[in-house]
Amino acid sequence: MNLYPLALKLDGRRVLVVGGGAVATRRMPALLAAGARVDVVAPALTPALRAHAEAGRLTWHERRFAASDVDGAWLVQVAVDDPAAAAEVSAAAERRGVFCVRADDRAAATAWTPAVTRHDQVTVAVTDGGDRKRALAVRDQIAAALEATPPRERESLKGHVALVGSGPGDPELITVKGRRLLARADVVVADRLAPGMLLDELRPDVELVDAAKIPYGASVAQEEINRIIVERAQAGAFVVRLKGGDPFVFGRGGEEVVACAKAGIPVTVVPGVTSSIAAPALAGIPVTHRGVAHEFTVVSGHVPPESPESLVDWAALARLRGTLVVLMGLKNLPRIAARLIAEGRAADSPAAIVQEGSTDSQRVLRSTLAEVAEAAVNAGVRPPAVVVVGDVVTVLG
Ligand code: SAH
Repeated sequence: MNLYPLALKLDGRRVLVVGGGAVATRRMPALLAAGARVDVVAPALTPALRAHAEAGRLTWHERRFAASDVDGAWLVQVAVDDPAAAAEVSAAAERRGVFCVRADDRAAATAWTPAVTRHDQVTVAVTDGGDRKRALAVRDQIAAALEATPPRERESLKGHVALVGSGPGDPELITVKGRRLLARADVVVADRLAPGMLLDELRPDVELVDAAKIPYGASVAQEEINRIIVERAQAGAFVVRLKGGDPFVFGRGGEEVVACAKAGIPVTVVPGVTSSIAAPALAGIPVTHRGVAHEFTVVSGHVPPESPESLVDWAALARLRGTLVVLMGLKNLPRIAARLIAEGRAADSPAAIVQEGSTDSQRVLRSTLAEVAEAAVNAGVRPPAVVVVGDVVTVLG
C-alpha cells in the first residue's frame, strides 16, 4: 500500500467521532489538543468522554449515526465495534470525500492514526503496514533517542532558572518535565537529598554545584546558593536547582524564587514527588484511607515543641484524629511524641518511621507513639526519615 504521509491542522475544524466507548476515549485527547471541534455521535459515552462533554470540550449527539452527520466534517473517526455500523459510516464518508479512520477494520479505512511521540517542536509519527506493535516499538526507540539528544538550540532557556523537585531518592521518581529540563542544564545546583544517579547522567560539560558542600551555617549557605544561582543565570546559563522531594515542602524553594525575582531572572517551578507522601506510600502506608483518615498534616520537627521558635501548634495536632507526618523530626522525636501524648493523642496510636524511602536502603520501623522514639534509637534509625502517626500505619497490615 502506498500511503502519503501528512499532518493535519485541525484547529477549529469539525471532526466527527462515531462511538463513545474505549477507542473514542483514547483518541479524544489528541483531537482536543489539536483544537478540533469534535462532534461525538453515540447513544452512550464513557465517563471520561462525558466529562469532556460536560466541560464543553466536545459536542455529544446522544443517538445513533446518520449519514448526514458527515456533512461539514474534515475528518471522521469510526470507533464502534459493530462492523455493519462502521461500514455505514465509512460509506457515508467515502461518498462525501472525507477521510475516515476505522479502528475496527484497518483495510477499510482511508486514513490511519500513527504511533506518535512529541518532543518540543518535533513530532514523529510512525505508520505501520498492519504491524502495530512494531510501529509502537519503533516509536519508543525514536522517543528514547530524542530524549538522549536534546535540541542543539537552547532557545528560550538561556538565563533561566528551573527549580526542580527530584523526588524522594529513586531516580525514576523525578517527573518527566524535571528530567527533560535536567538534561538541558548548563549548571546544576544539587541538594544533599537529590538522587546521585540523576547527577551521574549529566553531560561532562555541565557545571555541578554541590549545595551540601557549601561551608557555612545554614542561612549563610542559603544566601550563597541564591547568589550562585543568580550569578550563573545572569551569565547566560540555564540553571537547574535540583531539590529533594518537592521544592516547596521544607525545601526553601520559595526563598530561591524570591532571590531570582529580585534579580529579574525568570523561574520555572517543577513540582516533585514529596517524601512526606511517597516514603509512607512505599512502606505500605497510605496517608489517607477511606473510613480511617480524612486528613493528613505534614509538619517539620526540626524545632523542639517547647522552643519559642516553634511555629507548630502541637496541642492542635494532638487533637486531630487524622494522619500526622513529621519531617526532620528524628532528633526531637522523644520530645515530639511526649508532647503529643501530653496534649491528648493516644499513647498506643500506631506510628512508623520510614528511613531513606524509595532507595535501596529503605528501612521501615513500626511501633506506637509511646514507644517509637526509643525504638528508633535502638534500631539505629538515621536521617533522612519521616515519622508517620495514625491509624493508617496499620491499615494495609
Ligand atoms: N522537600 C523535601 C523535604 C525536605 S526536608 C520533600 O518534599 O520530600 C528533609 C526531610 O525530608 C528529611 O529530614 C526527611 O524527614 C524527609 N525526607 C526526604 N527524603 C526522604 C526519604 N527518601 N525518605 C524519608 N524521608 C525523607
